[in-house]
Amino acid sequence: MAHPLIEELTLEEKASLVSGASFWTTRPVERLGIEGATLTDGPHGVRMQTAGADHLGINAAHPATAFPTAAALGSTWDPELLEQVGQALGAESRALDVDVLLGPGVNIKRSPLCGRNFEYFSEDPLLAGELGAAWVNGVQSKGVGASLKHYAANNQETDRMRISAEVDERTLREIYFPAFERTVQQAQPATVMCSYNRLNGTFASQNRWLLTDVLRGDWGFEGYVVSDWGAVADPVAAVAAGLDLEMPSSGERGPKAIVDAVRNGTLSESLLDIAVSNVLSTHERLRAARPADETPQSVEQLAEQHHSLARRAAAAGSVLLTNEGALLPLDAENGGKIAVVGEFARTPRYQGAGSSHINPTRLDDALTAIGEATRREVVFAPGFAFDGSDEGTLAAAALETAAGADVVVAFLGLPDAEESEGFDRTHMDLPANQLRLLAALRGTGAKVVVVLSNGAVVQLGEVVGNADAVLEVWLGGQAGGSATADILFGSAEPEGRLAESVPLRLSDTPAFVNWPGNQGKVFYGERLYVGYRWYDTTGRDVAFPFGHGLGYTTFGYSDARVTVPDPAVAAAVVEVTVANQGTRAGAEVVQVYVGDPVAGVDRPVHELRAFAKVRLEAGESRRVRLELDERAFAFWSPNGWVVEPGEFVVQIGASSRDLRAVETITLDVPAPEPELGKEATFEEWMQHPQGAAVLGQFLSGLGEAGAMWRDPETQKLLGSMPLRSLISFSGRTDIDGTVAGLLNEVDKAAK
Ligand code: BGC
Repeated sequence: MAHPLIEELTLEEKASLVSGASFWTTRPVERLGIEGATLTDGPHGVRMQTAGADHLGINAAHPATAFPTAAALGSTWDPELLEQVGQALGAESRALDVDVLLGPGVNIKRSPLCGRNFEYFSEDPLLAGELGAAWVNGVQSKGVGASLKHYAANNQETDRMRISAEVDERTLREIYFPAFERTVQQAQPATVMCSYNRLNGTFASQNRWLLTDVLRGDWGFEGYVVSDWGAVADPVAAVAAGLDLEMPSSGERGPKAIVDAVRNGTLSESLLDIAVSNVLSTHERLRAARPADETPQSVEQLAEQHHSLARRAAAAGSVLLTNEGALLPLDAENGGKIAVVGEFARTPRYQGAGSSHINPTRLDDALTAIGEATRREVVFAPGFAFDGSDEGTLAAAALETAAGADVVVAFLGLPDAEESEGFDRTHMDLPANQLRLLAALRGTGAKVVVVLSNGAVVQLGEVVGNADAVLEVWLGGQAGGSATADILFGSAEPEGRLAESVPLRLSDTPAFVNWPGNQGKVFYGERLYVGYRWYDTTGRDVAFPFGHGLGYTTFGYSDARVTVPDPAVAAAVVEVTVANQGTRAGAEVVQVYVGDPVAGVDRPVHELRAFAKVRLEAGESRRVRLELDERAFAFWSPNGWVVEPGEFVVQIGASSRDLRAVETITLDVPAPEPELGKEATFEEWMQHPQGAAVLGQFLSGLGEAGAMWRDPETQKLLGSMPLRSLISFSGRTDIDGTVAGLLNEVDKAAK
């Protein structure tokens, strides 16, 4: 709907409103009381720059809480917690006068190599969408807008500002879109940020199908679309496609081009009016959502409370991959010397490089936190330098320090230089000097715990082989160090579960042969088979499966039941009793996967369709109920979402490979009707409720040869033959007329 001020704005003013005023602000129109708005990064904290503006995280920003990165938050599988983090981010945005916070990133982790995986939640669209929606709801509850990014098919950094992601529609609809779709529908983010890349040849910023038909038409998006910073190649084409705001300011270039285009008739003014209305209405809605009498608290006032939340979230996102002989948690009171080894213990890597770079209010390091958490003797050696220098000396000193230790806690990971926004990794190995150090530490005979800091998965074979316990803490935010100590000594549970599979080797990964593309294009040749969809469908071994994670207690599943309230409707209810069988409280993530073993199209062997995080006291049990809606059974066809009747397998488990119960249900929904016409095959006609009889009659009328169609062998032979060929073989020359006649019969029979 047009904004009431549209009538009063001049063409120049309208054009000025769809292009930024500066790096982080939009333009005001003072004579009409239109205020400018401030947008800033996101997504792990508020990056309100005080020095010069840039979008690469270079210049300093006002202190703000650095929450765990999306890689860690994704591993929490906990929408409620994400909503709390969102609320905290919203509160700090208010404190710093930010109108729109640029996040969350819900792009799918297509390959472990993407330099920005730390900013994304998962390889699975349902998990990414549920977490994205919760985060947005949290931020927006404070009257601050979110910016859902980067829309769409922006799954790599290589050539990110030009490359064309070549993706078929079914893959987009089933894998790369649903996290955006779900977040839009469940949380209505104030803005969506279009990505830099091209999609099937057209820049996202100029792609009308993407920005208007799908986003607004199919999903009902009501906010405005902002460009990624510098993503607009042609400002006029962008407005025409449905881009509402170009950021950052392009000076007078954008506005002037738009004014000229309207004047010379190449851009309809009504399209510009739509963009202006979207921007103005959204900013007004945000301001109206703020409690009128509220005085925002300052970041300093919020800092303590938010640091605690960041600490809780970091523990909730830490994934305990192995724990031989229940080595963890360590006894804080008794036991021998603890040798802490690894530069990461003292110099935490807690966030990723690039536009999400936060200037934290505080920074906890694990070494100090461990010292505070235990009465045991703690010794430390850095063991290695991030740049790999002085390897021999540092390793020798570490071995000396570790001598006689009861347990070595080795802090390993990827140094900053190895992963970042702006470029992709070329391998998934940990630095060789760290692996050599680990092997040497193993040789001391002490028990070994490895704590990993990395934004995306790394190859773990050598790590697992040389450690009794492996704890993945990702890039855990400013309180990650203390959260790690909490887990090591058991004052917190490692609640995380993998939101991405850990492959054995790079060549096993689904996009391996198509990554990262060349000559301007990257083909998504693996299609739907991303992450566990690929490993589980092709039966490849992985180091650790999607959804995996140990805790300090164990859970039993019993009495699983899947009911279909009405077989004519594609929906089911899953119930299972989960019991905490250990002696400590803990959290379990109940995962429900659905498979469609017999389908008219190829489908992954199973897909995550529901999950619930359940916290249980020692000995407690609970009946968990999860709902499966139509989409849980559907696939995308050229005619939209389709559910086929028949059997579906519903699996309940603790990871994609740890399935505790499997039930088969039958849906008796109407079979999708094949589209008939002259290109439809014999088989398609025969699958059609009326088409079968009509075509049968036609063929029978062709005499002896025609009547052969009833023979099953002949049916197989004819199966893929289009109607036009069948007619032509019958000797008829008026193909179109015959087809029209048959279609007419079908119509009559349907009435
Ligand atoms: C990034 C966005 C970010 C923007 C503003 C871009 O380079 O891709 O995620 O929000 O810069 O800093």
